[in-house]
Amino acid sequence: MKKSIAVLTAALLSVAMISGCGSEEESSSSSAASAEGSSSAASTAEELGPVMEDIKSTGTLVMLTNATFPPFEYTSGTEVAGVDVDIAGEIAKDLSEVLGVEVTLQVSDGDFDSIVPSLESGKGHVALAGMTVTEERQQQVDFSEPYISSSQYIIQPEGSNLQTMADLAGKRIGAQLGTTGDILISDEIASGSLAGTGATISQYKSALEAGMDLANGRLDAVVIDQYPAAAIASQMEGLKVSDASISDSESYAVAVAKGNEDLLEAINATIDRLNEEGKISEFMTNHSTTAAEEAPAGESDTAEEAPAGESAVEEAAA
Ligand code: GLN
Repeated sequence: MKKSIAVLTAALLSVAMISGCGSEEESSSSSAASAEGSSSAASTAEELGPVMEDIKSTGTLVMLTNATFPPFEYTSGTEVAGVDVDIAGEIAKDLSEVLGVEVTLQVSDGDFDSIVPSLESGKGHVALAGMTVTEERQQQVDFSEPYISSSQYIIQPEGSNLQTMADLAGKRIGAQLGTTGDILISDEIASGSLAGTGATISQYKSALEAGMDLANGRLDAVVIDQYPAAAIASQMEGLKVSDASISDSESYAVAVAKGNEDLLEAINATIDRLNEEGKISEFMTNHSTTAAEEAPAGESDTAEEAPAGESAVEEAAA
């Protein structure tokens, strides 16, 4: 049975709907923005940092994400689910203890390239978006300890054999705007090994849209993180993933606006606890299965090809 692009289109539409809700949700936490402005005013020993203060007073932890990145965040019905959502739920649970008020998680879905600016302007308290720690992002936001390792892979038609960066010479390559995959390929085309080869890059707002253009033959390759590559290839007819990575290793971490040491400390404590309890690998296994099951009917066989449980276990523990 054919995997249906229509189902993915429906998934994209529901993402758009949730983004719409997100902007309403964001307005309810706008006080984060004003608190943000005075970050230098934090904090004596007992005083909370600006974002902690806002989480406490609103009883809400607003998580910024982009829900087109399975298994870390994807839409399931009208909800956003995934490894990052589960981790943020645990952070909210631990913050309830730390702050002595019940903290409820609220997910705000938007474009990936808007997440760092939104965090800086106080539209959310934390960002969990399979976000790689990079030097450039570290200038703008602070990161927790890493919780997952990943690297870049090539999604391609089943009949292709693209395994290395050199194989991408002259190819039409898709990536998600502002991601490490986009930066890697754009740099190689501008002044690296792909320069002058005729290779082009198309930047998409969502990884799923890039995958759809690949499935439709408008691209030769999509460069994206390991687990989303596997999930997208397993959800779309006729696509596979390169056997090996084409980049250095990357680390995912939780991002927060600068000047919020107390929040970072609490987040790191939660990540330590989750690693000790084996929870992050458990979330990876659960959502790699679930994200594949969310795929159009009759294709669960391909789910087993996704690099789910075991490699995740090692990497999460690393
Ligand atoms: N890990 C990549 C990055 O941080 C991709 C993240 C994403 O697309 N959600 O750029």
